[in-house]
Amino acid sequence: MARLVMKFGGTSVADIERIRNVARHVKREVDAGHEVAVVVSAMSGKTNELVAWCREASPMHDAREYDAVVASGEQVTSGLLAIVLQGMGITARSWQGWQLPLYTDGTHASARIKGLNGDELIKRFKERNEVAVIAGFQGINQETGRISTLGRGGSDTSAVAVDRCDIYTDVDGVYTTDPRIVPKAQRLEAVAFEEMLEMASLGAKVLQVRSVELAMTQKVRLFVRSSFDAPDAPQVDNKGRPPGTLICDEEEIVENQIVTGIAFSKDEAQIALREVADKPGVAAAIFGPLAEAHINVDMIVQNVSADGKKTDITFTVPVAEFGKAKATIEKARGQIGFASMEGYSDVVKVSVIGVGMRSHAGVASTAFRALAEKGINIRVISTSEIKISILIDAAYTELAVRTLHSVYGLDG
Ligand code: ASP
Ligand code: MG
Repeated sequence: MARLVMKFGGTSVADIERIRNVARHVKREVDAGHEVAVVVSAMSGKTNELVAWCREASPMHDAREYDAVVASGEQVTSGLLAIVLQGMGITARSWQGWQLPLYTDGTHASARIKGLNGDELIKRFKERNEVAVIAGFQGINQETGRISTLGRGGSDTSAVAVDRCDIYTDVDGVYTTDPRIVPKAQRLEAVAFEEMLEMASLGAKVLQVRSVELAMTQKVRLFVRSSFDAPDAPQVDNKGRPPGTLICDEEEIVENQIVTGIAFSKDEAQIALREVADKPGVAAAIFGPLAEAHINVDMIVQNVSADGKKTDITFTVPVAEFGKAKATIEKARGQIGFASMEGYSDVVKVSVIGVGMRSHAGVASTAFRALAEKGINIRVISTSEIKISILIDAAYTELAVRTLHSVYGLDG
């Protein structure tokens, strides 16, 4: 008998019929003898509605009251699921963040988890075989006792905080790339935490980045699967593979690919500064004001100047900050000194990810060659130990993703 945490996202609990379906998944695990804790999100669209109400009430609202409002979505679904489970003859009880309690810091609206007290839940597993239905996304501020929430998508993180964690969502796992772009994309059987972190931060929106960070530091394995798979279907697919993707430690993955996946993000804009003086302090003059304006700079390239005097600097910022970034640079123009500034927002960052890159040479050159053969121009490149990111014109997104997917042997 194992303890199991099952997490269901907003689409999976969107109406009572779907909540009944969720309850059937829970029943299967209870019948198999597991001690089950279920973490639920709000019904899909609910949190957006609550957030919009706060904004409408006052654009300058107090974050503590925002949390009081938006945490209510999960309160509803936890109660409803407990009711449905009880109706099926399963002992179940709902738990809000403050009842557990799940303690957080005081950063209302994007609080970080400080600790969770699971004693009462464990006692009830043992004594009454009771399923715990936990409202995700919420906790209490350890200092003040007020309700706090964990940032949008935060119920993934709630689930990870509880234990080993099965995340039920509207897709049946993590794919080698977005299947809407590459129909040959395949579901991965296992992904290392670090790879998943990269994929999540590069636009593969299966899980909140923080949930993966927490899972990695707490050594909690995640299993991503779909709540729309039939609850009583066999727990292997027709190829004998598990019905989802395990996110776990690198060491646990036996069959190691060099490249695990291709991610892309349209959330980038490029800024180029021409003829910047090639002398100490210039990079600081550019990136200092951007940092002060809370603009997250991602890729940076500086050319070596031919004459030792002038050079070009190119960098990327989130698309949403594009206007603000240009204005910030323009304001610091006197300090920086440059001939002209060029900006492009019609760009996309395509990334090749895999822990296998650590021990293999030539991974990057394969990508560059493949893109060149398709006539795709590379604007900016950045690399880390386990990823290569390439900025290209947005018009080539699909071609680039398909090309890279096939050149690394990921096509199914
Ligand atoms: N309901 C919250 C949101 O939409 C938390 C979650 O679903 O993970 O952000
Ligand atoms: Mg979600």
